Amino acid sequence: MIMLPTVVRNLFGGPATRMYPVTTREPFARARGHVEFNEDLCNQCGTCARRCPAIAIDLDKDKKEWILHPDRCIICEVCAEVCPKDAITIAPQWRAPFYKREAIIYHSKAVKEKGEKTGE
Ligand code: SF4
Ligand code: SF4
Repeated sequence: MIMLPTVVRNLFGGPATRMYPVTTREPFARARGHVEFNEDLCNQCGTCARRCPAIAIDLDKDKKEWILHPDRCIICEVCAEVCPKDAITIAPQWRAPFYKREAIIYHSKAVKEKGEKTGE
């Protein structure tokens, strides 16, 4: 008899789990899913690369490339916090799984102005 309320609740209540992967859960607000980069805002100041604790960002200043190594990134959000141009954001959607260590290369388009602060 002691279990009767639980039995009734389970009989008439909805399922306690999702039909994954048919039904997936939306990421919650402020979840740290993956790094997003805005090529139009980055001026290659280098602050993000210097402050990244996982050495997941490289810059090629000659080619104006901003290079992310997603296999190293721990999605700590430091790069987004220190970027003086707000060129980096952390999106809540989880990044897709990957099987090869491949860098993602972007091309920075903003021009660094003379004497501009780097945010450090
Ligand atoms: S989120 Fe953290 S680990 Fe990933 S690139 Fe930015 S600073 Fe590096
Ligand atoms: S502008 Fe932002 S994203 Fe570009 S190098 Fe500087 S800190 Fe990194």
